Amino acid sequence: TTFKSLGIIEPLCQACEQLKYKTPTEIQTEAIPWALEGRDIIGLAQTGSGKTAAFALPILQALWEAPQGLFSCVLAPTRELAYQISEAFESLGSIIGVRCVVIIATPGRLQDHLENTKGFSLRNLKYLVMDEADKLLDMDFGPVIDKILKIIPKERHTYLFSATMTTKVAKLQRASLNNPVKIEV
Ligand code: AMP
Repeated sequence: TTFKSLGIIEPLCQACEQLKYKTPTEIQTEAIPWALEGRDIIGLAQTGSGKTAAFALPILQALWEAPQGLFSCVLAPTRELAYQISEAFESLGSIIGVRCVVIIATPGRLQDHLENTKGFSLRNLKYLVMDEADKLLDMDFGPVIDKILKIIPKERHTYLFSATMTTKVAKLQRASLNNPVKIEV
């Protein structure tokens, strides 16, 4: 399997090559073709599986294809993880010239922006990613996530990643994903 055979466009294949991603990981192989088809995804995968690129590549590809008015938000449980995710978007995206149209934040930080930053809105959100959803919910971000889900467009793509499937994750899945493809690696 190659990134190209999964449907990834040439400039992003080159970005992967530059980052020494020789072959797609299992989660990338399973998730990317569905994501490119426009499906919602629930991915059960651990850190180290390559899950970040599994959602970053389809989002960057969409940004490449329609740079105007399209934007994405990634929710992560900790600032450290949010930082790592932004590094991944940055390193893959800078090679194709896509920058900073992705908001990557903890739910608390995002809520703070929504309430206090003038002109900040999620009205045009096209992609929502919830990473490490089990941790997000263990840290009691559930109510904030519910609020965010209420104000973002219903017509969007949603990717939910979690290391474990818990009752809370299943509930969040039902509340946020539309006919998702389930991938377990
Ligand atoms: P993640 O599970 O997203 O935290 O990724 C774990 C590590 O794997 C990160 O350092 C990535 O840069 C790296 N990685 C992601 N995809 C690939 C790939 N296809 N080949 C080699 N390394 C990768």
